Amino acid sequence: MKRRRSIYKGSGKDLFEGPEAGTLVQCFKDDVSACHHTKHGTIAGKGVLNNRISEYLMQRLSDMGIPTHFMRRLNMREQLIREVEIIPVSLVVRNIAAGSLSQRFGMPEGTPLPRSIVEYYYKSKDLDYPLVTEEHITSFGWAAPQEFDEMVPMALRSNDFLSGLFLGVGLRLVDFKLEFGRVWDNEQPRIMIADEISPDNCRLWDVETNERMDKDRFRRDLGGIEEAYQEVARRLGILPESGPRDMPGPKVMQ
Ligand code: C5P
Repeated sequence: MKRRRSIYKGSGKDLFEGPEAGTLVQCFKDDVSACHHTKHGTIAGKGVLNNRISEYLMQRLSDMGIPTHFMRRLNMREQLIREVEIIPVSLVVRNIAAGSLSQRFGMPEGTPLPRSIVEYYYKSKDLDYPLVTEEHITSFGWAAPQEFDEMVPMALRSNDFLSGLFLGVGLRLVDFKLEFGRVWDNEQPRIMIADEISPDNCRLWDVETNERMDKDRFRRDLGGIEEAYQEVARRLGILPESGPRDMPGPKVMQ
């Protein structure tokens, strides 16, 4: 098998050089890390499910005119994406108090927020991903003011669309994290959504029971993690036909 040049090794995904210039292959793994990389584990079949879920959600956003780095799915665990310059700021959109917002403001989880709140975090593991403001982002040149002015409405439009989509399958989009990247077209920078959108970076609660259907099951040792990710894919109508595990491949007959 031809060896591929590794570009990046992450906790949940690896990136390899793509088949054409300006493309990369994003490979989804079953490995999981949480709590700022202090907790590690494996969720069987997660990579296969997140590849499918992220493909589906990115395609729906694209249909809405929201640009994303997604090009096409290659196989069970891999997708072809556009190579982008990653903006070193994550955007978190929140609709309901949970997680770090609940901790920061002493607000019980599940409290509806008066309106959707967008937060910005600087992507630095060494600095523990600090919460930052627009001023930091544009002053330090992490994104140009015009880029920032595109990212926020894109995040809010994605939130409106994804909230409706998930509500349609009995899931509440409590909050989620988006990454953005920049590509250059004729020396003009263009911003698009990058990374992934999946139960790894969304909080999804069942509308009826408030059951957590996302990575909080791992973060908080709630169990039933594989089942929750499968259920999200099943409700979206995209559970891989052969199930979430990789095909074992043909047996060699003697
Ligand atoms: O932990 P916190 O409440 O700040 O998380 C907000 C949202 O961002 C959650 O949906 C969580 O899954 C996501 N997130 C993420 N990666 C991180 C931190 C948070 O995807 N490193």
